[in-house]
Amino acid sequence: MLGLEQFGVAHDQGSSHGRTRVIRQAYYEGPDYVPLLFRAYDLWHALEQEAGTTLLTKTGALHMGAADSAAVAGAALSARTHRLPHEMLTADEIRKRYPVLRPRPDQVALFEYEGGILVPERCTATHIELARRGGADLHFQERVDSWTATPHGVSVRTSRDTYEADRLVMTAGPWTGQILRDLGLPLEVTRAVVYWFEPRAHVEEFRRLPVYVWEDHGTNAYGFPYVDGQGLKCGFHQAYYEVTTPQTIRRQVGEDEKARMGAHLAKLMPDAAGEVLSFSTCMYTNTPDYHFIIDRHPAHDNVVLACGFSGHGFKFATVIGEVLADLALQGRTVQPIGLFALRRFGSPVR
Ligand SMILES: Cc1cc2nc3c(=O)[nH]c(=O)nc-3n(C[C@H](O)[C@H](O)[C@H](O)COP(=O)(O)OP(=O)(O)OC[C@H]3O[C@@H](n4cnc5c(N)ncnc54)[C@H](O)[C@@H]3O)c2cc1C
Repeated sequence: MLGLEQFGVAHDQGSSHGRTRVIRQAYYEGPDYVPLLFRAYDLWHALEQEAGTTLLTKTGALHMGAADSAAVAGAALSARTHRLPHEMLTADEIRKRYPVLRPRPDQVALFEYEGGILVPERCTATHIELARRGGADLHFQERVDSWTATPHGVSVRTSRDTYEADRLVMTAGPWTGQILRDLGLPLEVTRAVVYWFEPRAHVEEFRRLPVYVWEDHGTNAYGFPYVDGQGLKCGFHQAYYEVTTPQTIRRQVGEDEKARMGAHLAKLMPDAAGEVLSFSTCMYTNTPDYHFIIDRHPAHDNVVLACGFSGHGFKFATVIGEVLADLALQGRTVQPIGLFALRRFGSPVR
C-alpha cells in the first residue's frame, strides 16, 4: 500500500486541523448516519487501544435551539430512531445545569451522553503511525499531478515519480475538484474560521460544558468546553462563509469577523466572549445536499473516491477508511452508504 500526501503529517492547510472536533451520535443531519457513527465509535476505540493513546474524550453533547429547529428536531429524530440515550431539557433546565448558558425561553436542548471531542492532529498522526506499522509506504511532500486508469490497473504521476498499482483511492478534500476534474463534481469549497476566546469570568463553569450545536434563528454555531492552554473554541457552521479555493483562501481574520463571532456567542453565553486568544482558518468542501460522496468512479471500477464532507466528516474518519478499503478490495461494503452515491447528482449510473 502506497499513500501520497502533498504536505506533511497532520498539516494545517486542508480541513483536518484545529485541535478539536465534535463527535456526536444524535445526528441532526439524518438518522442514516447513525449506524456509521456506531461503527466509527467502535473503530476510534479500537484505534486508541492499539496505539495506547486517547483520541476521544466524552463530554456529552447539547443540541440547542427552537424545538422545531433542524438542530433539535433532527437530533431528536435520530435519537428516537436509534434509541440513543438522551434527555430533553427546557431553557430553565439548561440554565440550571450549565449556569453560563442563557438560552432564550423558547429554546430547548437535546442532551446526548455519547457526544465528545476528538483531537484531529493526534487522530491523523495515530492513523499514520499504525498504517506504517502495518507495512504501508507513506510519502509526504509528494503531490499527485495526474492519474490514469485502465481495467488492468492505475498509473499515478506525482511531483517526484510515476507509480503503477491495481487500485486507487482518492480523498483529496478541497483539492478534489482539481484531481477529479473529469467528473465535474458539484463541489463548493468554503472558508470556515474557528476562534478561541478567553471567558470574562467563570472559567470553571466553561470547563465543564459539553460540546454543543446551537441553532439561533437559522444560524448554526458550535463549540467546545474551555480547554486549558487553548481557551473556549467556537465557530459558525455553514454561516458567514466565503467561497474559496485551497490556493486563494484568505488566512487572515478581520477584527469585524472576531467581533461578529463574539457578539453571537454572547447571546448564548454572556461571559464567554472576552479576548480572542487565537483563530484558525479551514476549508469545507460542500455538496449541494451537504451529504458526503463515497463511491466508485463511474468509469473505473478500480478507482474509489470519498469527498464532499461538507464540514461534518471528521468524526467518521475511521469508518470511512474501512468503507474505502472494502470498496477498493471487494467492490462493496456492508456499511450503509447509499446516501452518499454519486448518481444522486446525475452522474452516470453504475
Ligand atoms: C473549521 C472546521 C471545523 C470542523 N468541525 C468538525 C467537527 O467538529 N466534527 C466533524 O466531524 N467534522 C468537522 N469538520 C469537517 C471535517 O474536519 C472534514 O470533513 C474532514 O476533515 C475532511 O477531511 P478530508 O480528508 O476530506 O480533507 P482534508 O483534511 O483536506 O484532506 C485531504 C488531503 O489530501 C491531500 N491532497 C489533496 N490533493 C492532493 C494531491 N494532488 N496530491 C497529494 N495530496 C493531496 C491534502 O493535502 C490533504 O492532506 C470541520 C471542518 C472545518 C474546516
